[in-house]
Formats: sequence, C-alpha cells, structure tokens
Amino acid sequence: MKALEALEFDNRYARLPQAFFKQTAPTPLHGAFVATFNADAAALLDLAPDESVRAEFLACMSGQRLLPGMEPLAMCYAGHQFGTYVARLGDGRALLLGQVRNDAGQSWDLHLKGGGPTPYSRGGDGRAVLRSTIREYLCSEAMHGLGIASSRALCIIGSDEEVYREQIETGAMLVRLAPSHVRFGSFEYFYHTEQFDHLQRLADHVIDDHFPQLQSRQGKYLALLGEVIRRTAALIAHWQAVGFAHGVLNTDNMSILGLTLDYGPFGFLDRYQPGFVCNHSDHQGRYAFDQQPNVGLFNLSCLAQAMLPLLSDEPAHAVEQAKDQLQTYETTLADEYAQLMRAKLGLQSSESGDQALCAELLQHMADDDADYTLTFRALAELSAAGESSAAPFCEHFRRHDAIHGWTRRYVERFRRENADPTERRARMQCANPKYILRNHLAETAIRAAVDHGDFSEVERLRALLTRPYDEQPGMQHYAAPPPDWARHIAVSCSS
Ligand code: AMP
Ligand code: MG
Repeated sequence: MKALEALEFDNRYARLPQAFFKQTAPTPLHGAFVATFNADAAALLDLAPDESVRAEFLACMSGQRLLPGMEPLAMCYAGHQFGTYVARLGDGRALLLGQVRNDAGQSWDLHLKGGGPTPYSRGGDGRAVLRSTIREYLCSEAMHGLGIASSRALCIIGSDEEVYREQIETGAMLVRLAPSHVRFGSFEYFYHTEQFDHLQRLADHVIDDHFPQLQSRQGKYLALLGEVIRRTAALIAHWQAVGFAHGVLNTDNMSILGLTLDYGPFGFLDRYQPGFVCNHSDHQGRYAFDQQPNVGLFNLSCLAQAMLPLLSDEPAHAVEQAKDQLQTYETTLADEYAQLMRAKLGLQSSESGDQALCAELLQHMADDDADYTLTFRALAELSAAGESSAAPFCEHFRRHDAIHGWTRRYVERFRRENADPTERRARMQCANPKYILRNHLAETAIRAAVDHGDFSEVERLRALLTRPYDEQPGMQHYAAPPPDWARHIAVSCSS
C-alpha cells in the first residue's frame, strides 16, 4: 500500500489533442473536510487507508493542492438529452484530476465531481450538493456489491459552503474512480462537428487503453462498436434483473465501457412497478424502468451513427454494417436477462416454458404490488422448503389463490432438475439480494449527514451494501420495505 505521493500518474487522456478537453484547475470549497472515505476503493489505487487522515489527502482531493503528476482537465462531449441533440456539454462540474496506474497495471481515472466551474458549465455553478454526493457514493458501491459494472467512489469532501438549488443546500465533492469516463457523447461530439480525425483518435484511444485485443483486428472500429453493444446490453439486462432505474439515460451519461455512470435521480424498485419513473422531472416517463432496454438501443444507435465515418469509406456500406451490429443488441440483452432471471428462479437448465413462468410471476407481482427484492428473496426459501411452506412467499401477494397456482407449477418445474434444495437455496441467495439501496435508506443517511454532520449511517449503509446477498445478523430492518413516510419520495433531478 502506498502513500499519496507515491501514486503513479499516467495521464493518457491529457496527451490527446487539445480539442478533447480544457485544462481547468479545481476551485476549492470553503471549510472542506473528508466526510467519508472508502478503503475498498482506495485499494484499487494501492492507496493505504490511513492516508485519508493526512492533511495532504484533504488538500489534494478537495482541489486545494495538486499532487505531483495531476493534470486536471474537463472532458469535452455532447449528447442526446431526452432525445434532443445538445451540441456542447462536457464536464460542467467534474474534473479528471489524473489517471493513476496501480501495481497490477490497471489505470483508474481520478475524477472530482463538484470541483467548481469549467469552460463547459453553461452558467451552472460547477458544484454538487451533499445530498446527491451521498447518493452517488452509496449507489456506486452498492452496484459494485451487486456485481454490476459501475464507477466507484473513493471519498466525499464535505464543506460549509452554501449551494443554491430548489432550496439552499450544502456543497460537497465526490472523488470517483473509473477505468474511463469516455461517453457515447464523446464520440457524438467529434462526429457532429465533423472532426473525423479526432473521432478516429478517440476510438484508437479507447481501443488501445481498454480493448487492446482489437488493435490488430481487421475492421477494429466495427468490433469496438460490437463490444460496446454487448457490454451495454449486459449492463441493462443486469439493471432490469436487479430492479434499478438510472433516471437520466442521456447519451452523455452512457459509458463507452458499459459502466453505470453519473448517478442522479436513480431508484431501485420497492414494489414491482414496470413503469416506475424515478426522476420527477421526467414527465413523459422516457426513462421509466421498463423503457431502459429501448433507450439503450436508441443510445447505441446514436453512437453507431457517430462511428459511421470509421466503419467504411462507402457510406451505404457503413450504415449496413452498423445496422447489422445493432441487431445483436436485443438478442444479447434478452439472453443475458433470461440467464439472470433463470438464476433468480434457481433454475439451472433451460425449458421452453421458463420465460412464461417468469413473466407470470412478474405479472402477479405487478398486480399485487409485491416488493420486487423481498419476493425473490422469499422464493429462495420456498424453493428449499417446498410447497408445503409456501405461506411466507405467498404473503407478498394479495390474491393468494392466484399465486398458489403459480407456486404449484414453479415447484413442479424445479423438481424436474433434481437439485439439492439446500444447494439451490444457496445459489438463489447469490442471485437475489437481500439488501438494496432503497430510497428511504439513502434518505435516512442523508438526513443524519446534512442535518447533524453525522456520516456514520452513510458508512454503515455502504458497508452493508458491499455484501447485499449475505444474511447480515442484526441488520434485518435494512431489508424492510419502505415505511409510510417514504413511499412517495420523489427524487429531484437537481443535484
Ligand atoms: P447530468 O445529467 O447530471 O450528468 O448533467 C448533464 C450536464 O450538465 C453535464 O455536462 C454536467 O457536467 C452539467 N452540469 C450538471 N450540473 C451542473 C452544475 N451544477 N454546474 C455546471 N454544470 C453542471
Ligand atoms: Mg452526466
């Protein structure tokens, strides 16, 4: 484990042409302090956990001082926001401080969110509020715990600075880590400004750094597009299986590596509502939970269009190739989703009726307002104990007769596999989390931090959510559905 000064910076993004970014120094926050620190994420950098208590750590992570090797910059990109193309976005309140190479040879972007205005702030203040910073901190780690690709969170920097949103809030910063912050929108920017040399440069950068196996491939840009399609399909299948709604699936929030990126008004399903809209500014429900697979395809089409000049000198041929690649999306997503749902049902083989069995369960859950997470978790118990003890599972439903019929067919189905019940339950518990980041849990942690400067609940939750599939003694109440006060928390887009 290393001291802060021993971190090795290898800033390859900063070596790209000037058109890719603007060098921008962070603007420190008044009264900055290290509010929380995540040793798990620090380990990705080989950073020793006790470094977090040094004054130097605070200074370097809050933008007061730069570590040797840091070259802060704001990345330039564009994007489709709610279906409309916005020609110039870019990091309006985030800075890539530098890229750290760890001893295993992996590279991690050190990204400071809320670091003050940049040339891309478009009139915004360049700040993030403590509330949304805590939500991103917790959710990135919760997603990682669930086994879903995500940016990671190193620490939150608190402050006593006021930030104006719908009301006065406290400003804060988040230091996040990801192998790359390149977005679909980064490609769109160079395509729509007809800077095709830069477009190619960007694609080469992504290939060299993240897909080196494609370097010497014929048609490597088409292969890159195929890889992004595959990863995005797998990511969204995972979101659907776990009940996660991102909330702002604009192309500038889509990672070229298929990571969950830019947490805003996200939400996990409590009761199973396919049309769940977590972002209260999304009046049309464009980014509703059940729309995410379609939105993924729309976003990938935007990316594919932006990559057309790289695919072939002959435009019609390029379009044909892109279309062929895009056709793989729906089947990949459906296959991934089917596999994840089969695991949630504890099935190891595949039978023709499985998809219908799963769809019927989801329909019962939707009809009866069953809690998505708890119902699947209860199914693991049912599958171990058998039909005679179906009662705890059936209690999640209002119409017991209807769900009993389903249960009977489910039991018949898994019995055909002859698996050991205890082993099946263990498998199912690894596919059906007990603990998710429900809004009311985040809200409780936020209230303690914002109102009382007490971050202990943030840390307790983070630690809990790193092991969402495990039974954790004494933590049962964190698995409960939302209390009445929290049933209608609407999450604002302003963050
Ligand atoms: P988001 O949808 O939150 O990822 O943000 C969309 C765009 O708006 C990004 O380019 C952000 O950098 C920018 N942005 C969001 N909030 C602010 C802010 N407070 N100040 C400046 N830019 C912002
Ligand atoms: Mg964003």
